[in-house]
Amino acid sequence: MSGHGVLRGVGVGRGVAVGPVVRVEPAPRVAPDAPVLRDGAPVAPDQVPDAVSEAFASVAAALTAQAERATGTVADVLSATAQMADDPALRQQVLDRVRGGEPPIAAVDAAVDGFAVLFEQAGGYLAERVTDLRSVRDRVVARLAGLPAPGVPELVEPTVVVARDLAPADTAALDLTRVLALLTEEGGPTGHTAIIAGQNGVPCVVRLPGITELAEGTVVGVDAATGSVVIEPDDDARAALAAKADRERALAEDTAPGATADGHPVQLLANIGTVEDAERLTGSAAEGVGLFRTEVLFLGRAQAPTVDEQTAAYTRVFRALGNRKVVVRTLDAGADKPLAFANPAPEENPALGVRGYRLVRTVPELLHDQLTALARAGRESGAEPWVMAPMVATSAEARAFAAAAHGAGLGVTGVMVEVPAAALRARAVLGEVDFVSLGTNDLAQYTMATDRLRGELTDLLDPWQPAVLELVAATARAGQDASRPVGVCGESAADPLMALVLAGLGVTSLSMSPGALPAVRFALRRHTQAECRALAGLALAAADAVSGRSAVRAAVHPEVGDLG
Ligand code: PEP
Ligand code: MG
Repeated sequence: MSGHGVLRGVGVGRGVAVGPVVRVEPAPRVAPDAPVLRDGAPVAPDQVPDAVSEAFASVAAALTAQAERATGTVADVLSATAQMADDPALRQQVLDRVRGGEPPIAAVDAAVDGFAVLFEQAGGYLAERVTDLRSVRDRVVARLAGLPAPGVPELVEPTVVVARDLAPADTAALDLTRVLALLTEEGGPTGHTAIIAGQNGVPCVVRLPGITELAEGTVVGVDAATGSVVIEPDDDARAALAAKADRERALAEDTAPGATADGHPVQLLANIGTVEDAERLTGSAAEGVGLFRTEVLFLGRAQAPTVDEQTAAYTRVFRALGNRKVVVRTLDAGADKPLAFANPAPEENPALGVRGYRLVRTVPELLHDQLTALARAGRESGAEPWVMAPMVATSAEARAFAAAAHGAGLGVTGVMVEVPAAALRARAVLGEVDFVSLGTNDLAQYTMATDRLRGELTDLLDPWQPAVLELVAATARAGQDASRPVGVCGESAADPLMALVLAGLGVTSLSMSPGALPAVRFALRRHTQAECRALAGLALAAADAVSGRSAVRAAVHPEVGDLG
């Protein structure tokens, strides 16, 4: 594609868009010793603590009101941000600093920075919430300094919105019917901006260095599948993007069950995290849910939801899916998804510590309550849920999990294969449970000894690494020998080329974000099972991840190679 240069980032979804850029300016800088103003006049020193409390309260109230006007995930993230503004610990730290003589604006900055460091150290979900924390800071500071609340410009025409990063409150304030695409310099593909963009079908590219330097009104061409942004695209580049959009629309018209060209079935399932995600699948061609990340229901809460609350949420999910399969993953707290009530003490190496199923050692009631709620929801909705535990390393753990699930009244049990030990011992693991699902995000992290949150090490973390594929192959072989299903629910399943390799290795289902399903369905339909096996052979025989992917790309049907 050509134009005046191409920027590359991490794409979210597969959409394309062409349009002029509008920039979301960062919040104005206020001097750390600026006075607190009310009605334009400085507040008396003895009134400052009250003014600080009032600023936090009014920001929380404004965010709560916005949350009430919003729906679904947007409402959830706004309420989570409102809760941060309402957090007594944050407010108390600011007040303590003010009483200790620090200027109020400096005190807000310092307290927020302290929390941000803690969130960043915790990593994962919490690290991605740092943007929300800073948005609370900007709003509180603006209120104290007597400035209007920072916000996004009103959009008068269909526009590509560009920002350093967007807090959910900013994203929610956008009229998404006028947003052609969202581009950010920072943020991560699982951050709030990306989640909200995905929920609304808006093409999104994050981690785009230099994007905020574009002048207002510059026309860009966005391709989320490849994560590329063409600056001032010429006619050829525009035509190529329009052709891509037509092709994505055409691909989505095929709603048949997943299968290879010679009719070998490969179930195509969706990954979800919320009740709303499940309800959006009502008219979708997804054959079911291959990964319900239940921890999303637990995040941002001081206490675990009660059995009754959980039962109500799971019942809605099962009802939304009718008689389609739903694979529920039990709580995967710890490491990149820490929860206050599950992981009270910081760990030196949290990814290797008490996370996922291992929580049964420290807080067994969490698993017990969750299994009880799932069994109740199954009875109330008439569904037969499949339940699986994350981060299982041994067949003894698989046996204990299956016993706990059966004890709660659940029939179909499985475990995720995310730890190399479980893949190497897949035969023994499959002797204990009915199915397994490969979490290739973590399997790559643990096989390659590479923190999945370190952007600069993504070459090692690549699921095309032959070592990772060897473990997938070993697990799939064990599944075939035991006649038990082996799925993949990590991000790798959403790559049409990798999907062919996984099918060739003998994987029986692929689970991904719903927007990725049409391209994967199309790729499978263009290749026979024998061709998929040959592609898997190429990937396994490659010297490294990059040459493996190129060898497969060169060997697939040309239309599939073009999918990006
Ligand atoms: C995985 O590890 O591949 C997976 C699907 O689980 P999560 O990304 O939630 O850790
Ligand atoms: Mg995982």
